[in-house]
Amino acid sequence: MATRTVVIVGGGIAGLATAVRLIQLGIKPIVLEKRPFLGGRAFSFVDKDSGEEIDNGQHVFVGACDHFQRYIRDIGASHQIRIESRLNFPVLKHGTTSRLRAKNLPGKLANLSALLGYRHVGVLAKLRILWGLLWISLARLKFDSPHDRVSFDDWLRDHWQNDETINNFWNLIILPSLNDHITAVSAYTGIELFKVALLGSPVNPGLGIPLAGLSSLVGESARRYIESNGGEIRTGIHVESVNIESGRITGVKTSTVEMVEGEAVVSAVPAADMTHLVPVSLEGSDDFFTAAEDIRTAPIVAIHIWYDRPVMTEPFVATLDSPLQWIFNDTDLKSKRDSGQHVIISLSGAWEWQDRSKEELRQIFTEEMRKTFPQAKEAAVKKFTVVKMLEATFRVTPGSRNSRLSQRTPLPGFYLAGDWTDTGWPSTMESAVRSGNLAAEFIAEDIDTRR
Ligand SMILES: Cc1cc2nc3c(=O)[nH]c(=O)nc-3n(C[C@H](O)[C@H](O)[C@H](O)COP(=O)(O)OP(=O)(O)OC[C@H]3O[C@@H](n4cnc5c(N)ncnc54)[C@H](O)[C@@H]3O)c2cc1C
Repeated sequence: MATRTVVIVGGGIAGLATAVRLIQLGIKPIVLEKRPFLGGRAFSFVDKDSGEEIDNGQHVFVGACDHFQRYIRDIGASHQIRIESRLNFPVLKHGTTSRLRAKNLPGKLANLSALLGYRHVGVLAKLRILWGLLWISLARLKFDSPHDRVSFDDWLRDHWQNDETINNFWNLIILPSLNDHITAVSAYTGIELFKVALLGSPVNPGLGIPLAGLSSLVGESARRYIESNGGEIRTGIHVESVNIESGRITGVKTSTVEMVEGEAVVSAVPAADMTHLVPVSLEGSDDFFTAAEDIRTAPIVAIHIWYDRPVMTEPFVATLDSPLQWIFNDTDLKSKRDSGQHVIISLSGAWEWQDRSKEELRQIFTEEMRKTFPQAKEAAVKKFTVVKMLEATFRVTPGSRNSRLSQRTPLPGFYLAGDWTDTGWPSTMESAVRSGNLAAEFIAEDIDTRR
């Protein structure tokens, strides 16, 4: 039986992962979530226009996301995900499909071999890409690295890349992974991403996909694990501030002026919400926390179309030279029995689309689908809906690493989790889980030291 209690503010993946790890370390978590449901920025809901249960946005992960996969295993949800064992996805350009598919070779050779069969770049472009990857493998990223002061696009162009390689290869990976255009992301993050994805183990770039709604996958499975292992989860509780008595954190105050007590408090909320929880009067803490105020976010728009018949055969496909970006075949991925097909168009860095009306988007994207998939010309659109997440992920622009704070703060007893904290990963479920694991481990260490 755990005798120590920690209060976690926020029931997104970071808060839930903190709770799971605390339980494993023998500490009781109490998770307080302001909304009626868990999952934070990864949730599913019944859309009122279509009447269908859909996710707030298509979520994918890769084989390198080992902390996320362990979290999914721990909460007993492994059957709700699938993962490719190697890099393997189709890319459509002007009606021609070519796959980025790793061959069955050892180590880095497997990932690099994917380039050989990739027909959307020519032979010279392939040599350019290999040259770029060589420089990436040689790049030494340090705390005050110059790579964090330039964009990845500029860095690549300084290393023999051109429009062909950037548009047909580098940005194909960067845009969906970092939810931003290659001209806006820092070279530091771009280099780090390719070091892990293509220059690491062959399993690293294998694409993973949820097979169930996100609320069930990341929310309800975690609830079952936490509650059946002595933790508590309370939804519909808005935390106003942390409570401090005689210089020590004793818990949090909710908007109904209730006190929830704990030996430590973890803020597992987005950066902008975290700054409201911290008392401004505390000396020494101001400089530390205010850095997080510079964090900026980027939108994702998801377009759902239900056709009366199948229009695509692949489970997912990336496009070049089309606004469609990535298209997911949800009927296939979720094994739905349906004579029609539900497809999801996932638009990253979606500033261009975020203010467009549903009718406008319907016209543009159903037309684009007809141009891209011949079967869509014959198919009737049964339902159509749009989900806009305006603050989907935090941006990794040059210099933004300075805004990512450590999970251990200068306030004794106050810890941070959240994808935006300093995990070394971009805004992903993996980063959220890593942040929760780190926060829980710091807490266990500090509580033991105090005793
Ligand atoms: C459309 C979309 C697509 C995405 N695609 C991918 C993808 O393909 N792959 C991937 O890995 N990641 C993806 N992400 C990012 C991923 O969802 C996030 O990185 C992750 O969910 C962040 O989790 P978190 O717990 O750090 O934060 P959040 O999910 O934001 O959780 C914070 C929680 O805190 C709660 N909260 C805030 N203030 C308070 C308060 N005062 N009191 C109580 N509760 C409070 C919030 O309600 C929320 O539930 C996507 C995100 C979106 C929106």
